[in-house]
Amino acid sequence: MTDIKKLLAELELEAVNPGACTGEWIEPSERNELVSKNPSNGQPIASVIQADADAYEQVVEAAQASFATWRMMPAPARGEIVRELGNELRKYKDPLGRLVSLEMGKILSEGLGEVQEMIDMCDFAVGLSRQLYGPNMTSERPRHRMYEQWHPLGVVGIVTAFNFPVAVWAWNAALAAVCGDTMIWKPSSSTPLTAVAVQNISNKIMDRHGLSGVFNLVIGPGRSVGERMINDSRVPLISFTGSTRMGRHVAEATATRFGRSILELGGNNAIIVEPDAKLDLVLRAVLFAAVGTAGQRCTSLRRLFLHSSIADGVIEKLVKAYGSITSGDPLDESTLMGPLVNESAVEEHFAAIEKAKEQGGEVLIGGGRPDKPGNFVEPTIIKCSEHIPIACDETFAPILYVFTYDELEEAITVHNSVAQGLSSAIFTSSVYSAETFLSHEGSDCGIANVNIGTSGAEIGGAFGGEKETGGGREAGSDAWKAYMRRQTCTINWSTELPLAQGVKFDVE
Ligand code: NAD
Repeated sequence: MTDIKKLLAELELEAVNPGACTGEWIEPSERNELVSKNPSNGQPIASVIQADADAYEQVVEAAQASFATWRMMPAPARGEIVRELGNELRKYKDPLGRLVSLEMGKILSEGLGEVQEMIDMCDFAVGLSRQLYGPNMTSERPRHRMYEQWHPLGVVGIVTAFNFPVAVWAWNAALAAVCGDTMIWKPSSSTPLTAVAVQNISNKIMDRHGLSGVFNLVIGPGRSVGERMINDSRVPLISFTGSTRMGRHVAEATATRFGRSILELGGNNAIIVEPDAKLDLVLRAVLFAAVGTAGQRCTSLRRLFLHSSIADGVIEKLVKAYGSITSGDPLDESTLMGPLVNESAVEEHFAAIEKAKEQGGEVLIGGGRPDKPGNFVEPTIIKCSEHIPIACDETFAPILYVFTYDELEEAITVHNSVAQGLSSAIFTSSVYSAETFLSHEGSDCGIANVNIGTSGAEIGGAFGGEKETGGGREAGSDAWKAYMRRQTCTINWSTELPLAQGVKFDVE
């Protein structure tokens, strides 16, 4: 049994915590309490006083003021501070990972993995802090030099989803910090305590350097605090992670004010299994991707396309493996699947199963609710003779739709026929099949894997998806460019003033 009081104390959390911070915690004048509940048993863990309009103003002003000095610190010096943040997260990996599991419901190894992802992001950003460079161009004019440089953008608004309560903050925060931006985090109202714990950790580092206002926090409802932030022209970039429905609204709000957005929205991810695939790998990959995190990853496997020659054997093994999945307390190390986040997620799970049945799907295993408290559901496999409409929606739950196909090209067409475009995979030993899947006529997703499941990306690559997944990229590769503004500079070191394209404009 987890000693919750001890865990909260280790992370310097109280029974009631302030929900807005600039380095200094802010006490809002109205006490609008948000209780964080354990999804495994519905019991309250602790609560947070949500930010009001006043608290939000204080936070934006602090972030703006801090930007004026933070941007002028050399990027490698900012990187040193992010290095310290990564080291502090190493110290707190165990309690923070436990709190992620307790509050969100993912199993402990995934909770710890999420904190490891934060640490990896800090390490990545430290290196990046010496590499924020642009190219030199050859000028067409004599004794002219042309180059591109990158400047910090300003205050970045980071809105995060419940399912990655801390890692997604780090994807954004570590990059934004080395890029010279300050930021305001609005976490999901389902996971406020992990956000307070992370803010406590970042405060320690910033206090050590006499800094504040770089990492800021506002906890409150999307419809008030979130809405204020996405419409605030003092926040030039909103990095939004969440549902496609909310992402569309964020895209419109930011575009109206010529702000920028990074959108990381819903996925509807699939694996195609060719006849020459190594089936033991398929089985393990499918189980982790479809059942891991109780199907609550944006990259969770939702659709499985099996070649008809191997379908029966794979389905039989999968059904057997599903039968041995243990669900329960995510902090118990023998648990493989935790609860869904709340009761409405449970309702959506069952509504999708009912729709699938109405549309001709056959439930092979699961479909029920375990007889215990908390938001638990059974992981479910639904066999479909065609690509039914409900399979085109993202239901954030452990439901796997299974289809059969005969030709790879046909499977790819159906694979690409959904509105979302996040993660995809093929299992095959054939170079032809793998390369077809990765070619211009292959997967249309932001992530395309060979012999690896759809979930569990490394931070080194740019993460994100196409179509209704929003088109944003975060984490590795050159994702940092979204957090800066580009400037093209031309320097004339000659004694003449030649115009580009040979234009003449001489005055006698
Ligand atoms: P959600 O859309 O309900 O909420 C996301 C965030 O938006 C929360 O912080 C919420 O408070 C905030 N919000 C709500 N209304 C707002 C408003 N009017 N203005 C500004 N912010 C507002 O999503 P969720 O249920 O927390 O997360 C699940 C969804 O997130 C799934 O669709 C999943 O696929 C997606 N997701 C995507 C990625 C990715 O990288 N593509 C990663 C994680 C989750």
